[in-house]
Amino acid sequence: MTNSPDSPWIVLKFGGTSVSSVTNWKSVAGVLRSRLEAGLRPVVVHSALSGITDRLEQLLEKALSGDWEPVMAQIEQRHRDLASDLGIGELPELDQYFTELRRTASGIHLIGEVSDRLRARVMATGELMATTLGAAFLASEGLDVHWLDARSLLEATERPGASERASFLSAACNFEPDPALQQRLADIGKVFVTQGFIARDARGDTVLLGRGGSDTSGAYLAAKLGARQFEIWTDVPGMFTANPHTVPSARLLRSLDYDEAQEISSSGAKVLHPRCILPVKQYAIPLSVHSTVMPEVEGTVVTATGGDGDARVKAVCTK
Ligand code: ADP
Ligand code: ASP
Ligand code: MG
Repeated sequence: MTNSPDSPWIVLKFGGTSVSSVTNWKSVAGVLRSRLEAGLRPVVVHSALSGITDRLEQLLEKALSGDWEPVMAQIEQRHRDLASDLGIGELPELDQYFTELRRTASGIHLIGEVSDRLRARVMATGELMATTLGAAFLASEGLDVHWLDARSLLEATERPGASERASFLSAACNFEPDPALQQRLADIGKVFVTQGFIARDARGDTVLLGRGGSDTSGAYLAAKLGARQFEIWTDVPGMFTANPHTVPSARLLRSLDYDEAQEISSSGAKVLHPRCILPVKQYAIPLSVHSTVMPEVEGTVVTATGGDGDARVKAVCTK
């Protein structure tokens, strides 16, 4: 099965640091404008603000002892500060998420335990809050943007025998091409913003795709939409021979095939979530990796024929 090079759909995934500052959001808006000018229909999938998923985990731990308000205040402040920097004012939806988190933390303190189901719901709030800000900013930039709840787009696969923990916190989803979804979106707008990391299960409960799973959300949507391209926008300008933050001499890998990219991500290179390759490989959708702070750098392109076939070592990773 191959992708359609004429497809209007393009999925762009932005990670935590890419959505945490005004400068980066201006870069996101610029990338979207250029895709619209090329006649494409962009679907943005993005993560929580950097560090917020960790804070939400901390909120759950602190809720047990009752000392959760300082962490909650930090979470709230980060979002209020970014909203104010982005010039988008008060957002009632954001207040609702803060209220819900406080209510849940009080409940956890009373009950004295956190179920995996509740953990997934609380941690999903990071992406829900961030995309609320992101969509409001892109609208303020004049883009015809629609916010979508990823739980109405992605459904977890039933895995008989999977533990409750894996089902709620490390789910995998169906990614067959979905013409009805393509039609539904084509009918409602031009630019879409949705959450990475989250999906629903067969009962409609919120589930997570595992830490770092937003890359995989993007890949699932690219497959379902039959996208012509899946772009990952992050804080480094592509995949390198080693982590460029710890190995400054690491070299940028311009072109890889799916199996090489899979090997690098499965051996621990955090730049790609290991489950994000299969959906794009299965439908031969080109995957590229770019830097939000240096959008002009070409980055890495992963395709079926990308690698040069040499047996030499392409990358070194540590876990
Ligand atoms: P995002 O929040 O955008 O998903 P991540 O932190 O998950 O970003 O992934 C990007 C990070 O992956 C980089 O900042 C880098 O430190 C790390 N990384 C590890 N190995 C590699 C590699 N081989 N090439 C590029 N980045 C790598
Ligand atoms: N926000 C989630 C995490 O920190 C998902 C992601 O960033 O990909 O794990
Ligand atoms: Mg990541």
